[in-house]
Amino acid sequence: MRWIRLDGLAQALDESEDVLKEQAARALGISVADVCSVTVIKKALDARRNKPPHFVYAVKIGLAEPVTVLPEAMPAGIRMQPFTDEPAMDLSPVSSSERLPVAVVGSGPAGLFAAYVLAIRGLPVLLLERGRPMEERTKDVRTFWEKGVLDPQSNVLFGEGGAGTFSDGKLTSRTKNPYAGWVKKVLVEMGAPRAIMTDAKPHIGTDRLREVLIHLRRKLLDLGCEIRFGAQVTDVIIRQGAAAALVVNNHEEIQADRIILAVGQNADDTYGMLNKRGVKLEPKPFAMGLRVEHPQSLINSIQYGRWSNHPRLPAAEYFVTADVSDPNRSVYTFCMCPGGQVIGCSASPGLVVTNGMSNGKRDGDFANSAVVVNVRTDDFMSAETPLSGLDFRRHWERKAYLAGGSNYCAPAQRLTDFVAQKTSGTIGRTSFLPGVKPARLADILPSFAADALCSGIKIFDKNMPGFISQEAHLIGLETRTSSPVRICRKADGQSENVQGLYPCGEGAGYAGGIISSALDGIKAAHGIIASVSGRR
Ligand SMILES: Cc1cc2nc3c(=O)[nH]c(=O)nc-3n(C[C@H](O)[C@H](O)[C@H](O)COP(=O)(O)OP(=O)(O)OC[C@H]3O[C@@H](n4cnc5c(N)ncnc54)[C@H](O)[C@@H]3O)c2cc1C
Repeated sequence: MRWIRLDGLAQALDESEDVLKEQAARALGISVADVCSVTVIKKALDARRNKPPHFVYAVKIGLAEPVTVLPEAMPAGIRMQPFTDEPAMDLSPVSSSERLPVAVVGSGPAGLFAAYVLAIRGLPVLLLERGRPMEERTKDVRTFWEKGVLDPQSNVLFGEGGAGTFSDGKLTSRTKNPYAGWVKKVLVEMGAPRAIMTDAKPHIGTDRLREVLIHLRRKLLDLGCEIRFGAQVTDVIIRQGAAAALVVNNHEEIQADRIILAVGQNADDTYGMLNKRGVKLEPKPFAMGLRVEHPQSLINSIQYGRWSNHPRLPAAEYFVTADVSDPNRSVYTFCMCPGGQVIGCSASPGLVVTNGMSNGKRDGDFANSAVVVNVRTDDFMSAETPLSGLDFRRHWERKAYLAGGSNYCAPAQRLTDFVAQKTSGTIGRTSFLPGVKPARLADILPSFAADALCSGIKIFDKNMPGFISQEAHLIGLETRTSSPVRICRKADGQSENVQGLYPCGEGAGYAGGIISSALDGIKAAHGIIASVSGRR
């Protein structure tokens, strides 16, 4: 059998995948009998406006050996190439005489996948997480959303699964990293839907993601990984330029000469400790803005037009960008959650931070997305500290807290009023919990951001007519798009100035999002495996 990949097979919404075989044969100009097998590799929805939405497939095809295909005779838009498998992940045991387990700090995607790779290769692993396990964390988060009572160690940002647990569970990533498919395969083994392997825009949803994470924990335990929750790393002991030990919860010293630091971008206290210990850090650009929320039905009708009620169409998504000339900034939407909910995700007392999540079915009444402006390092840079981006972020999040009424409700404004720069004082229904308070959002943003958002949103409305709607709200603040700090590291993954310390994931400043953070964790694990193997 000869294997090829065929890209660009289009199907109308009402067509069934059963006819892909005939379609492939037609496109290749061969008989159906010569197509021995068809497997979907990728399925995308093409919903560009003014033409009927349709699905576009990439498929793996097994051809009967002697058949001849003439690529030049294929219809426009269809491409053929030899099929190549993704490189397999090396899961073979590593024999090591290492005395100490590898310490992995943080159980977000980076820490979990680092721990998984190390444990599956047979290395002893100690996973330390400041927050609580999923079952307890879910209750803590519910208490916060329902009553506004924040637990600074167990919340939307801290706890088992990391920051993306109460999320849309989008698994999109622009990376060409060959292990992205393996990460998704592991997630499927842990209970994620199989469709994530083939959907062009895969997502799990927070409801199913929480289950997946519990299964991943059990798998790690089976592999011999020791997991400790409620274990905040409060200090790193460095001797002669090398990691020597960790201090947990200010009192327990644990020897560790190989540490994967996967603490995410939300642990300001941990960044502060690393800075005090002389670990090299530097400021980096990030983005900030607001969450915008529309009725999902409105977004469906903007995006799908007269097909908006078609039962095979998912809740519509969008991604819009605008280059604003005055002030000279980029404005873009980010982390869109169709059928989702805007959520409060404070981890520190006295700050309001927003984000979005949705369930697997994405069947909520609202569509939300971050709408953000790029923040440059010279917007906040200080000669005294590499951590000024964190101070800058906290400053604006504090303003949001005060404007929301100092009880974790978020300040909100009708989109029409924000764009018209007027204070109406009234707002309609939003999904945000624990609640919203009418406010003038321009007052809780740096002026460059407020101005750029106002201009950028007007440009969005030209590209997506109806985006500026009386029914839409802005809720603030959205500040955790990526880290404003980088933990500098060398090509081998180790900190630039502390041997044995492997910063990775979003908090290290080299990744963003669930998949890319998981991949960065794997890279750190591979760095450790290489060093352990080299030492033998
Ligand atoms: C609400 C929300 C929705 C999101 N939605 C998506 C999405 O749909 N798709 C997507 O790709 N990305 C999404 N993201 C972003 C994504 O979650 C992050 O990029 C990703 O989780 C980063 O992974 P990480 O492992 O590097 O860090 P994190 O996930 O932040 O994990 C870090 C972990 O370290 C722990 N920790 C911190 N300090 C210490 C310490 N000192 N000692 C011990 N433990 C510590 C924290 O408690 C945390 O569990 C979302 C983020 C949020 C907040």
